[in-house]
Amino acid sequence: MAPRLRFAPSPTGFLHVGSARAALYNWLVARREGGTLILRIEDTDTERGREEWVDGICSSLEWLGLGWDEGPFFQSKRRSLYADAAARLREAGSAYWCECTKNQIEARARARGGGPPGYDGYCRDRGLGPGPGRALRFRTPDEGSTTVHDLIRGEVVVEHRAIEDFVLMRANGDPLFILANVVDDADMAVSHVVRGEEHLPNTPKYLLLWRALGAGPEPVFAHLPLLVNEQRQKLSKRRDPVAVESYKEQGYLPDALVNYLALLGWGPEGEGEVLSREEMVAQFRLEDVNPSPAQFDLAKLRHFNGVYLRALSAEAFVQACQPFLERGPWPAERFDPKAFARLAPLVQERVDVLSAVPGMVDFVFREEPEVDPDSWERVMVRDPDTAAEVLERALHAYEDCPWEAPTLHAVTLTIAEEVGLKLAKAQAPIRVAVTGRRVGPPLFESLEVLGRDPVRRRLAGALERLGGPGE
Ligand code: GLU
Repeated sequence: MAPRLRFAPSPTGFLHVGSARAALYNWLVARREGGTLILRIEDTDTERGREEWVDGICSSLEWLGLGWDEGPFFQSKRRSLYADAAARLREAGSAYWCECTKNQIEARARARGGGPPGYDGYCRDRGLGPGPGRALRFRTPDEGSTTVHDLIRGEVVVEHRAIEDFVLMRANGDPLFILANVVDDADMAVSHVVRGEEHLPNTPKYLLLWRALGAGPEPVFAHLPLLVNEQRQKLSKRRDPVAVESYKEQGYLPDALVNYLALLGWGPEGEGEVLSREEMVAQFRLEDVNPSPAQFDLAKLRHFNGVYLRALSAEAFVQACQPFLERGPWPAERFDPKAFARLAPLVQERVDVLSAVPGMVDFVFREEPEVDPDSWERVMVRDPDTAAEVLERALHAYEDCPWEAPTLHAVTLTIAEEVGLKLAKAQAPIRVAVTGRRVGPPLFESLEVLGRDPVRRRLAGALERLGGPGE
């Protein structure tokens, strides 16, 4: 039978890279096995679940190219299913109403002085009906154990004694996560539960509930390894850049991010780590996922993105740059797509994220270059005489030489020789004068694209700012 998988985010924030990895693994299994991927929004916790997060999650999944086959289904619209399941459990004696407050439960635990903490089953046989402040609890068996068969972790055995009679539903009819999660998986005939490791402690309860509901063949589980940062700490919303949307904004390509996410806990056979989606679909197996925490390495992700950017065709690169160029720091009317297209292949070789592109080409589209103070200090101020001499000579030599990169190269090489500098050293003041910065795309192509007059105007401007030669 073709597998049925689900990605079931709680809409409490942006799509987290850890959730995106879970979505991807579900997607890979569904694609590989000809299965179905369901998108289910777990928004029963109405105070925290927000509609705008739902839109963000769906659009991030679409941007990543992780489409789903069924849904999105919203748990907030399925409350009657949970209420029906709760009633059935209650009638079968698998659940009961409890009126204990948190304080009472804690006080009794203290009085017991040891033993398992948590709820002690006080209301189990009191035959209470529903009422204000009452919660419906699951009657966990006292004896025996439940074994979770996990494709990644093997068998995980939990003694029933260690599982308290957990809450299924609040007095106001709000289902708890575990009830809605199990009822939906059963109703949606989910065959594979692929989710983060933090849910493993819920899984014995999940299975007890599943069986009590007589839900049929049990799903297969795969709990994915935790993601940690470079300090081996769990990735956190506050500390680490975890929102998929922020990667989109910085100019990561979805294919690069997807490829990188696939490697967080899994590795393909063979050497290369750069894989197309087809290759991932063909090779991915949950059984091969490593249970130990996976390090989210930003430098590696950035490097990956650079590899993907360089692999784009020239047209595709220009296309990918568009949203970033539209937000460029120049007056919109000064942007010249032809000039950009000429520089684009040079830029493509040098950037790892698309958000760095405007800063490499802005000198072409600004009226005047924006001078980086550090570059000015290092190149112009430290040795103003040499800088001025180079600029003087360039201003003169660039007056009537043919305006093409190879000629500009040759002419500048002659200047370097005359001044007694290596070419790279002689280029520096010209680059700072024309582009405002010490680094950027290759200089002579940049000069060619900018044009003779603007280049000479900027050289003269920098000379003036330097106070003229010899000062
Ligand atoms: N809604 C849960 C979460 O966002 C996922 C539950 C599941 O996958 O079973 O963590």
